[in-house]
Amino acid sequence: MRFSTKAIHVGQDADPTTGATIVPIYQTSTYTQEAVGVHKGYDYSRTVNPTRLALEAQLASLECGTYGSAFASGMAATAAVLNLLSSGDHAIVTDDLYGGTYRLFSRVLVRYGLEFTYVDMSDLAAVRAAIRPNTKLFWIETPTNPLLKLIDIAALSRLRDASADLETRAVVVVDNTFATPYFQQPLLLGADIVVHSTTKYIGGHSDVVGGVAITDDPALHERIAFHQNSVGGVPGPQDAWLTMRGAKTLALRMREHERNAMQIAAYLESHPKVAHVHYPGLPSHPQHDLAKRQMSGFGGMLSFTLHGPESRALEFAGRLRYFSLAESLGGVESLICHPARMTHGSIPKAERERRGITDGLLRLSVGIEDCEDLLEDLETTLG
Ligand SMILES: *Cc1c(COP(=O)(O)O)cnc(C)c1O
Repeated sequence: MRFSTKAIHVGQDADPTTGATIVPIYQTSTYTQEAVGVHKGYDYSRTVNPTRLALEAQLASLECGTYGSAFASGMAATAAVLNLLSSGDHAIVTDDLYGGTYRLFSRVLVRYGLEFTYVDMSDLAAVRAAIRPNTKLFWIETPTNPLLKLIDIAALSRLRDASADLETRAVVVVDNTFATPYFQQPLLLGADIVVHSTTKYIGGHSDVVGGVAITDDPALHERIAFHQNSVGGVPGPQDAWLTMRGAKTLALRMREHERNAMQIAAYLESHPKVAHVHYPGLPSHPQHDLAKRQMSGFGGMLSFTLHGPESRALEFAGRLRYFSLAESLGGVESLICHPARMTHGSIPKAERERRGITDGLLRLSVGIEDCEDLLEDLETTLG
């Protein structure tokens, strides 16, 4: 089965009770048992809910994985995956990282004795140098947020395999929120787990928060599902249903996001007031060749810096007509954000600047409006 067919059919069988073509929203916390312990496999909705199961099957299939565990947010999915580690374990993490993930690692999980090293993981020699005997997990985002750097997933997975000094095989986790499974399938490149904030492209309409962790390893799945049930960070049936509806059109939307982003990236790159554009689809991107190898398309996210002081970037961000000034990304509508003050505000300034997230940097989530309108908006505002 191919991508869009999976998106529309996997997990989406007609309802066995009524024949409803669309998976119903099973708004129930519990299930009546015929006799003590005799039931249809459903006992309590933190543990299992049919609407959530349908979403988990759909999303796992899109990533070419076997198992999906849905969560109430991307962060809840991230926390569940990090729970694979125990006190004293070490993780190597992309330094250009979603701010909330950095906050969870550096301010919450370190208190439980987990150790993190932040590395520019586009440099595999630096990754190799950071490996310790207790390294149990690699956490990557690619393309990264907000600088759109790429990490070679297959090469990292091989490096992990070759690291003989690891007591046990470390897991490679890819936060695939930016690329989406439509453009990049990390499990096929050797990763063990894929995490998404489904709030973004998968839901696609900026109307629901959610997350998912997907794997093809039954042992890893069992541990993630155990945590999902133990901690209970699950999406309600309404949210699971909305996410599932969004995901059905992922391919259509991603093609449009990319088409628009490509045109806008090229436009901005040629504009004299723009200092630099970060977009993997541009031949000027330092890892354009890797992008072509690892991804089947370049996505809808880009960032750029304007010449001049921060005030110019801030003023520009607030004056656009169609690009709403907002956190988040991946919805049908275009958004602009100022990472240093918004999405990445929780990273200390010195650390932020070391990573290249300067005060002049702006990030676009290019929507699927008519591109001519978006270009006119940028043109008018840039002046
Ligand atoms: C938004 C985001 C998250 C966090 O997801 P939530 O659904 O907001 O909890 C994690 N990673 C990336 C790349 C994101 O963009």
